[in-house]
Amino acid sequence: MAANCSRKAVGEHRQVYADNAATTQLSHAAFEAMTPFLLDQYANPSQSYSFSRIARKALDKARATIADCIGALPEEIFFTSGGTESDNWVIQGAAKQQMKIITSAIEHHAILAPCAFVESKGSNVEYLPVDSVGLVHPQTLADTISGNGHLVSFMYANNEIGTIEPIEELAAIAHRNDALFHTDAVQAVGHTHIDVKRQNIDMLSASAHKFNGPKGVGFLFIRNGIKWPPLIMGGMQENYHRAGTENVASIVGMATALQENIAAIDDNCTRLKRLEKRLLDELSAAKLVFIRNGSTNHIAGNISLSFPGFEGEMLLHRLDLLGISVSTGSACDSQNTQISHVLKAIGLPYEYAKCTIRISLGRYNTEHDVCAIATAIERIVGHKP
Ligand code: PLP
Repeated sequence: MAANCSRKAVGEHRQVYADNAATTQLSHAAFEAMTPFLLDQYANPSQSYSFSRIARKALDKARATIADCIGALPEEIFFTSGGTESDNWVIQGAAKQQMKIITSAIEHHAILAPCAFVESKGSNVEYLPVDSVGLVHPQTLADTISGNGHLVSFMYANNEIGTIEPIEELAAIAHRNDALFHTDAVQAVGHTHIDVKRQNIDMLSASAHKFNGPKGVGFLFIRNGIKWPPLIMGGMQENYHRAGTENVASIVGMATALQENIAAIDDNCTRLKRLEKRLLDELSAAKLVFIRNGSTNHIAGNISLSFPGFEGEMLLHRLDLLGISVSTGSACDSQNTQISHVLKAIGLPYEYAKCTIRISLGRYNTEHDVCAIATAIERIVGHKP
């Protein structure tokens, strides 16, 4: 049995949600801030009568709050429907301007799919390799980049293994070569300190539901002075950059959740690192054979583990039966197990990659949850396969 966790930790317990890299629970403060705009303050913020002004003011306030949270100016924040739209906007905008795109092999599909699309239409896209913990080496970028007018796009933190990329060094290399630097920071915003000015980031994608905000809303930061063609055309919303009536309630919820998370970011990271350590200590004390994937510099709470001999898909379903939600590092069908592009890119051997799960702890997880997870894993893995 896991060292200090009683077997009661599992089975008698509420549902344990440990998939916070997939989505997070909406914060109560965000919910409360949203409610008036779902019920009474339903005006279209673009109209000129006074009823609309309340919604317009709420949008302005949310924009200023979000800008402040990442060291940007309000006019540099453009609301979108989430991380996928923000990433598509960046990649398709670069292609429209005939920019060469340099990105990595471990990006989220929200980057990789539009890259494949623009490549199929003739754009030049280069995918840089990563090392065994998922880091893009700045020297690899320096050796690759040549010529003007490139877009360099690297994720801030990887969603499967949590690795945080050397963003400032990568941005500096991009700028030395007159390139623009974009980061998909969907896993990082609200979880680690970000200052776009200090870090010299030109564009940044974010998504509210990864930091205890509502789903289906996010933003793209575009540094003042950069002219970026719109992805979605129509009305004059977002200063002609992104058409469509703004989702006022969700934008207000996003700003509230981000402000709340940033205010508690250090305490939350410390607490999540403690929970991570507790989980790993419990698994080690139970003498389970496993490896942890990713870099030591990672998003707190993102724990990718491989248990050789125990397929990820099986682990996910057995944990689910015990009331615990995690995700896998592979997608299986009845014929074969497909290893994720991230685990492939870090060179994780197939025998490990197919036996990988991602446990991602968040703001609402407790020691009790970690005990339940450790005890359940031990119950499943603690005997020969
Ligand atoms: N980029 C990364 C790194 C992600 O982890 C995700 C979602 O998991 C996305 C983009 C897509 O974000 P959204 O769900 O808001 O479309």
